[in-house]
Amino acid sequence: MVLTLSNREQFREAKSRLIALGIDHQVVGTDPIVFQINTEFSVYRPDDLAEKISDLGQVLAHAEKSPLLDKIQPGHEVVVEGNAFSPIRIKNFAKSIWVAGPCSLDEHNDIFETAAFLKKIGVQILRGGAIKPRTSPHEFQGVGREGYQVLQKAAHANGLACISEALSEDDVSDAVKYLDIIQVGARNMQNFSLLKKLGRSRKPILLKRAPGATLREWALAAEYLLSEGNDKVILCERGVRGLERELRYTLDLAGASFMQHRYGLPVMIDPSHATGLKQILESCTAGAIAMGFAGVMLETHPDPIHAKSDALQALSPQSLAKMAERLMR
Ligand code: PEP
Ligand code: MN
Repeated sequence: MVLTLSNREQFREAKSRLIALGIDHQVVGTDPIVFQINTEFSVYRPDDLAEKISDLGQVLAHAEKSPLLDKIQPGHEVVVEGNAFSPIRIKNFAKSIWVAGPCSLDEHNDIFETAAFLKKIGVQILRGGAIKPRTSPHEFQGVGREGYQVLQKAAHANGLACISEALSEDDVSDAVKYLDIIQVGARNMQNFSLLKKLGRSRKPILLKRAPGATLREWALAAEYLLSEGNDKVILCERGVRGLERELRYTLDLAGASFMQHRYGLPVMIDPSHATGLKQILESCTAGAIAMGFAGVMLETHPDPIHAKSDALQALSPQSLAKMAERLMR
């Protein structure tokens, strides 16, 4: 964005305004005075920023990389609808929605029983991986796409919505058929052909942040979904690669908060994958709720000893219930 001052006397006012707004800028012309303004990393949407400085002179906006995202309004709401449950309204700075369930569906985990229990404690969305992105090809890869249907049955029989991951483009048609929300996993955040295909569906999409992605890369991945016409996009922070060895990843609550403020899309927090540690899940979840995130996602398994993935971070249903009692509002 370029700001050309109407007169030289406004230099001090323009400079102090830009600093007060926290906007990265430089003077690139002196007669008239011209400021080059970096909007890409600003906490303000380009239109809002232009409005804040338009009295100083002429504002010229360049073509941006995220024109659709930049039109999303603060408080953008994603509504998850289905016949089996009441509509779920997902947005920031409102009641946080709870998503819970096992990392993956497996034979040691009666998903119908889990769904009934979760419904009782106030959870609205049942999660359960059917096709799992595993670090090693020798680890459990999931039960396959048939799992989508099982998850749906368990969720809908109990008045819950369901979410599971589509790992590849081949999964999309079944995912659209059976799931209420489709998850794009961290490893697929920049799988642009998958994003485009999901963008052509009209299903709500939960877009997880890749552990090594910048906020801007995450935002531009969302732009891919929007560019195909799907604005039912929920972002999900699940931890980035940090310095610690004690934790699985680093939960970037500040980065997620920036996304809420700058882009307006609902942001959920997944403390389970971010920490990998059930002992600190409650405090991280409390923090996420206090910060006005649209929802929290937590892994639970009735028999973690037999969980085929992510056993260490799985809360027992009883611990989840206690946590929900203390934090849900
Ligand atoms: C998951 O939700 O189980 C999962 C694999 O998440 P992520 O893509 O964030 O690792
Ligand atoms: Mn998991």
